[in-house]
Amino acid sequence: MELDGKPKVGMQFDNLESAWKFWKSYGGKMGFGVRKDFSNKSKKDGAITSCRFVCSKEGNSANPLFFHKFQMDSDEQITNIFWADVRMQLDYAYFGDVVSLDTTYCTNNAHRPLALFSGFNHHKGVVIFGAALLYDETTASFKWLFEMFLKVHNQKKPQTIFTDQDRAMAKALQEVLPDTYHGLCTWHLMQNCIKHLGNLMKHGSHFLRDFKACMYEYEEEKEFEEAWSQLLSDYNVHENTWVESVYSLKEKWAACYMKKVFTLGMRSTQLSESLNADVKRCLNPDVDIIQFFKHFERVVEDKRYNEWKCEFEAREKLPRLRCPSSPMLQQLAEVYTPIILDMFQDQFDLFSACCIKQRRQSESLIEYVIDMYKHKGEWEVLFHTQEKSVSCTCRRFETFGILCCHALKVFEANDVKLVPDQYILKRWTKMARTGIIFDVNGNEVEEDPKFGHTLEIRSLCQRFVKLASEVTGKDEVLILRSATEEMIKKVEALRLGKIRGTNESDDPIIPSSNDMSIPTGIKKRVGIKRRSRPKSRVELQLRNRKASRSRSHPTFTHSQSESTDIGASSLVQLENSFSFTRLLMDQSEGSVSLGALEFGGDKL
Ligand SMILES: [Zn+2]
Repeated sequence: MELDGKPKVGMQFDNLESAWKFWKSYGGKMGFGVRKDFSNKSKKDGAITSCRFVCSKEGNSANPLFFHKFQMDSDEQITNIFWADVRMQLDYAYFGDVVSLDTTYCTNNAHRPLALFSGFNHHKGVVIFGAALLYDETTASFKWLFEMFLKVHNQKKPQTIFTDQDRAMAKALQEVLPDTYHGLCTWHLMQNCIKHLGNLMKHGSHFLRDFKACMYEYEEEKEFEEAWSQLLSDYNVHENTWVESVYSLKEKWAACYMKKVFTLGMRSTQLSESLNADVKRCLNPDVDIIQFFKHFERVVEDKRYNEWKCEFEAREKLPRLRCPSSPMLQQLAEVYTPIILDMFQDQFDLFSACCIKQRRQSESLIEYVIDMYKHKGEWEVLFHTQEKSVSCTCRRFETFGILCCHALKVFEANDVKLVPDQYILKRWTKMARTGIIFDVNGNEVEEDPKFGHTLEIRSLCQRFVKLASEVTGKDEVLILRSATEEMIKKVEALRLGKIRGTNESDDPIIPSSNDMSIPTGIKKRVGIKRRSRPKSRVELQLRNRKASRSRSHPTFTHSQSESTDIGASSLVQLENSFSFTRLLMDQSEGSVSLGALEFGGDKL
């Protein structure tokens, strides 16, 4: 054994005690406290087979409610991984009514697709509900994914989920979430349309425009059917198999069917361009798994910071009312977040263009027909005078959760000056994040205390930088300098006080919680290619530009081969407290693993 006192890979000790002494003295020299993390005992004789010694701070900040699950094959190699932290669990509890699942991000360097569950918060910003790295895209893997998703979210099912068009996934959804409405992402449909019927789009053809109209424009089934048969005959595609298959799924994408569904206006899994770009950066082929998780955490944190900024602004700024004396706008300015208030005000503006064309009253029900000045169309609104309940054929409230201008016209005609409570959805209000959330074990889910702290620090940095960069003149510089010195002194004094209080007692060895297996590595998926995410026009242009710049290099092409079914039934299901991310991070950040535990060394 070398005696320079620094730990090295492959170091050997006579027994556990001497290893522990060495680690303790190293920690003392380097200025950090130490503790024993866990040990594994032999199933035969109970002797300790491996143990981990770590810095005493290690893992302390990790929230025990960080949830992850993985599947292992018979060689104890990880196949599918799913994870969701506490904030994701809370986000889903508050905003998990409509979910987007995107599995079409570029894969990382082991050909593993990332599956990302996301949705909208009360500021209509993107929130992440969970993520997974999948081994393959079989029904078995998707079923496992949806089951894990439900498990972490205490079996709460979304009302609606949008995905890419994928038969294996659709089958798994049907089995695990039969009551959830399955919508298809219109962006992906359009890309598929270009892929399959690109030949019909040449020479100034309007095929794509007409196809798009079938997706978005026709609000009545009859109109849609007429337009669709027109499309078939105009372009002579009656026999086309792709056209046939897409028509058989019309309930999942045509506007007239989506009108029946609560969607929050979502039609595509492309919730945010910036999220797409950020996530793609995580999946750069040169990025290994450790970097991937770090990047990914940053992406998630950025989204959370955006919400925090919105919250801050909502508190600081007075909402601008387009009609300040309206009791309704005054009422909603108190409850809605600024962006939702603005969307409501758009409807409020439009209501002045609404005219009552017909009115028919029976006892407690009034039926209206509304048309609009300089707008095509007619809407039927039913108003129950006693309950003050209203429903309109445009179904804006039922699909998006805010009232339409037609309903507002009817309210006005009946002197309803405030929006009745049942038409204010909590998920769009400033109070959306209230209410206690319980996890699967019945424990209250609490925010990671680190979360608010991180955001606070970020905001402080911005304020310091702004202050320092705007400083003018000697006097101002002096004020800043002396105030900064003062702050540093105070913070240092506080730290010294804290360090003296550190507990340096011997920690007992924490026994391993159960006799579970520990993964030996992440299963490599060699040579398996998957269908690639269709590229947007911008991406294609960029790629073409790159290609033309380096013509001497061969062009990369995707080869197609069948993905293998790993057969979920033969897999070991794990539900434990073992953290793969922490383990991975440990290896990269120098916490020394003296035991037998190795993580295979595979890069994912
Ligand atoms: Zn309406």
